[in-house]
Amino acid sequence: MDIAHNTVITLTYQVTDPDGNLVDAGEEPIIYLHGGHDDIFPRIEEELQGKQSGDTILVKLQPDEAFGEYDAELVQIESRENFPAELQVGMQFEGAPEGTAEDDYVIYRVTEIMSDKVVLDGNHPLAGMALVFTGTVSNVRAATAEEIAHGHVHGDDDIDHGHDEILH
Ligand SMILES: [Zn+2]
Repeated sequence: MDIAHNTVITLTYQVTDPDGNLVDAGEEPIIYLHGGHDDIFPRIEEELQGKQSGDTILVKLQPDEAFGEYDAELVQIESRENFPAELQVGMQFEGAPEGTAEDDYVIYRVTEIMSDKVVLDGNHPLAGMALVFTGTVSNVRAATAEEIAHGHVHGDDDIDHGHDEILH
C-alpha cells in the first residue's frame, strides 16, 4: 500500500544533528495519520508521500522546518522567591510570555539557578538546530473513519484515548 492521504504510517526513525551526533534514538516508532493532520513535520510527510513499507527516507530539516528558530525573547529571568524551595535545572513551568494573551502558554525550562534569580527558557530544547531525520516505513494501513474524524491515530491499547499526540 502506498502512503497517501488518510493512511496510518508506522515509522522507525533516528534523528541526528548535521555532524551525525545522535539527538533522538527513536526507541519507540512514530505512528501517525498521514495527510496534513499536523501529526509530523510537513517536510517529512512530503518525503513519505507515495512511499511503501520498507522504504527509507532521509530528510535534512532546517530549524524553521523542525522545532523553530531560537528566540532569545523566550529567555526570562525571574526572582528566586517566585519558585518552590525544591528547584532543579530542567524543571518545567507553564507561563504566558509578557505581552501575549493569557492562554498563550509556553513551557519554560529552568536552565540556571542563582541565589536570588532563576533563568527560564521557553524555547524547545531543539530550537535553533538543524536536524537530519532518517526514517524507515515499517507499516502502512488505511485509517479508520473514526481516526479520520478525530485527525489522529487510535492505538490498539486505546485505554487512555489521548488527544495530546506527543511527537515534539
Ligand atoms: Zn481520538
